[in-house]
Amino acid sequence: MAPDLRNCSICGRLYSYKGRDVCSKCLEKEDDEYAIVRHYVRDHPGASIAEVSMETGVDEDKILQFLRDGRLISRGLSYTTNCERCGKTIAGGKYCDICLKDLGAQLNSVIPTRRKPEPEVKSWGKSKERMHIREGEEE
Ligand SMILES: [Zn+2]
Ligand SMILES: [Zn+2]
Repeated sequence: MAPDLRNCSICGRLYSYKGRDVCSKCLEKEDDEYAIVRHYVRDHPGASIAEVSMETGVDEDKILQFLRDGRLISRGLSYTTNCERCGKTIAGGKYCDICLKDLGAQLNSVIPTRRKPEPEVKSWGKSKERMHIREGEEE
């Protein structure tokens, strides 16, 4: 049976297909990168893709691919998500940096200065007093 020759999806080299669409050379490189990423994620659970990419030097796309392939467990690595407040794409968490700062500032300014509702002051206007009719004073 003739070998199933294909072009590597990364380097374009002709190689004999063995279940993955990259050649053995690129697969080896990918495995190296995967090992680095896996190692980092193991030591830094919950790290964002951007952070892992920056620390390991592996492309974010590559890391995403590891996640999509199921080689990395997404629980240990947070997917890119959207800020719950402004919808900006963020690497992880609920809010983007700007909104976090905004929310933090709001919390700081709102909570300590929050005033108790002022007691309702019952003041009788002078005009009302004048209108008072005392009984028995009528002529
Ligand atoms: Zn290749
Ligand atoms: Zn935001």
